[in-house]
Amino acid sequence: MTQHMGIFTSDKLLDYLAAEPDMQTEKLSERLWTVSDGLCRTIFLECDNSVVAFDTFGTPGRARAYRAAIERAVSGKPVKTVVYSHDHLDHAGFGADFAPDAEIVADEMTAKVIDLRKADGQLPVTKQLSGRENPMNIDGADFLLINPGPTHGTGNLSAYFAEEKILFSSDTILPDARYGFMPDYHLTNFVRFMRELADLDFRIFVPGRHQVADREQFIKGCDYIEALSLACQQAFVEMVPIWVHDAMAEYCSAKLRNRFGDLDGFDQHIGQTAIRIVHHYLMGGWGLEDTPEPGILLAQQT
Ligand SMILES: [Zn+2]
Repeated sequence: MTQHMGIFTSDKLLDYLAAEPDMQTEKLSERLWTVSDGLCRTIFLECDNSVVAFDTFGTPGRARAYRAAIERAVSGKPVKTVVYSHDHLDHAGFGADFAPDAEIVADEMTAKVIDLRKADGQLPVTKQLSGRENPMNIDGADFLLINPGPTHGTGNLSAYFAEEKILFSSDTILPDARYGFMPDYHLTNFVRFMRELADLDFRIFVPGRHQVADREQFIKGCDYIEALSLACQQAFVEMVPIWVHDAMAEYCSAKLRNRFGDLDGFDQHIGQTAIRIVHHYLMGGWGLEDTPEPGILLAQQT
């Protein structure tokens, strides 16, 4: 069988790409489920005669396992719509293995990146959205898609389900401290834009990885990134060697432990996150998305 490769080039990846993990599915409401492969997490929505699925997971095998999980939960209704939360391959890279005939909904900026990237297995967007808020009505199901502005990846869409008071926002705020290197977080406005989502009346927060959380954990997640950003700036003042992982981990964990030491992964991840954040301050951001009013600039790119 030919395997979709994403942007990998080594044939040594074939077993990795084909492996189908156990998926953990949890029902959140009458019509809404969340599903995880143990690392990434997403949601899917049962409509009158079909399923709206968010994202695809990050390998062909995971995409197939995701489809099987949906079929177990909602038998007899095909996935006719896939919403990409953002462009990244580890979340939305393998529609060709997941639902090859589905309509693909995404932000217009996401569509542009995917068109140009041409990753093997990532389906192009067939329905482009623009603007901050798009009320959706698909096959009898109402929900709201929101692009709060550049937060992570390109054209990141959050989904709000008013009936259930549930917010899904992928690869943005986490209910823990287990951030990776955050290579594609747009830190200039990240917390500001995420806090605007807190204006929505939600009680459950579904992040793009790890565990389902609640509103308080979402707010604490915003507080953590904000506090770590302040500690990273103070590190310049106190002449901490900002490019040295262990020095930054020690300095920032001493500053934040009282308030945030209970966050899962705090000790293991704070140094890596801090190294990323100090480089944001060193460089001023990584492109148009990291300017004070990025929405205006991005709109002029079309
Ligand atoms: Zn991502």
